[in-house]
Amino acid sequence: MSRSMALIGVVLALSAVGARAQSASPTPADLVKDPAVKAAIDGAKATEPQTIEDQIRFCEIPAPSFKEEVRGRELQRVFQQLGLQNVRVDKVGNVLGDYTGAAPRPHVVIAAHLDTVFPEGTAVKVKREGAVLHGPGIGDDCRGLAVLVASVREMKKAKVQVPGTITFVANVGEEGLGDLRGVKELFNTTLKDQIDRFVSIDGTGIHVTNVAVGSHRYRITFKGPGGHSFGAFGMANPMGAMGRAIAKIQEIQVPKQPKTTFNVGRIGGGTSVNSIPFEGWMELDMRSSDPASLAAVDANIQKAIDTAVTEENARWGKPGTITVTKELVGDRPAGSTPENSPIVRNGLAVATVLGFNANLGEGSTDSNTPMSLKVPAITIGGGGRGREAHALTESFDTTDAWQGTQYAILLAVSLAQK
Ligand SMILES: [Zn+2]
Repeated sequence: MSRSMALIGVVLALSAVGARAQSASPTPADLVKDPAVKAAIDGAKATEPQTIEDQIRFCEIPAPSFKEEVRGRELQRVFQQLGLQNVRVDKVGNVLGDYTGAAPRPHVVIAAHLDTVFPEGTAVKVKREGAVLHGPGIGDDCRGLAVLVASVREMKKAKVQVPGTITFVANVGEEGLGDLRGVKELFNTTLKDQIDRFVSIDGTGIHVTNVAVGSHRYRITFKGPGGHSFGAFGMANPMGAMGRAIAKIQEIQVPKQPKTTFNVGRIGGGTSVNSIPFEGWMELDMRSSDPASLAAVDANIQKAIDTAVTEENARWGKPGTITVTKELVGDRPAGSTPENSPIVRNGLAVATVLGFNANLGEGSTDSNTPMSLKVPAITIGGGGRGREAHALTESFDTTDAWQGTQYAILLAVSLAQK
């Protein structure tokens, strides 16, 4: 044995001791051998047809952001029927139910979002085509809701016991202008300071999202007196200011790593071709997984807008003519859960134990809020394969989708250990 080999041997032995000392609580590999846990995991596969039926039923109840109430009532009914304790609806419409363990802590929250991006009146009937389901929202996030319910169902049926307590939540307001209002309410009010670990089941496939891409969205409105294009010529123009602002914004430099972006997505205003407009508006979004980079691009954009207004007014010698208001219409905090944190390692270990492959990734999900608050959080997929999320042509391939339910169950149980 060479000296370096001997050293490696010592290091391995020490790390084995360290691992044993840390893992006083059972690992996913231990838990999967527990007869009740094994029964729940086997049950998840056996009852996948029921899970699919639930997925379709939830999806056929329209639930645009801010109008999740009817779908929420159905989840409330199912939570009660399955025997969760203390089933309740909070002020904003999140539906909660407790799977009570030996102690209140650790307190794990497993959530899936109720809302969809589709407006009222969208046809939500789900069509089956062999193994594939077609319907708006069928993957994002009806799959998450179905896996949430299936986890409760199989854990209850198998009488799985956990040392901590798990609260299952069907939450409102994940999408678009919902702006994470459901989880913000959970963390700021409903379960304030009571959540030790958070998992969102959002979308499809098997993956672990541990990096939160944050975003700021603004609606910027430029205003002035407006007037006749000929008669009032010489007056500062709100659209002139907006044009200057956009030109400056397009020149802003952002880091490639972490990827940081900005976009002017919509503009509008004015009344006629021969009027100096009294108003011009634009909507823009900016994103980064790094809070400092997000704050920096935000500050640069604000400065570009203010400078543009000053320049437009100066051009016509009329200080103060054009004014601007900046309305923050979306604020998703950036953050991350470290790769070496117990919750991420658990997420990957659970996949390995079940024989699946999970990759780490980044995204903008309900976990943004806990990550920004430094509460251990990840977002996982509900299995199967989703396509064209957020489009009317969204579909979900149910092939081996039971893997997602097994994954959620073992993860929930392993996070509810001391
Ligand atoms: Zn989603």
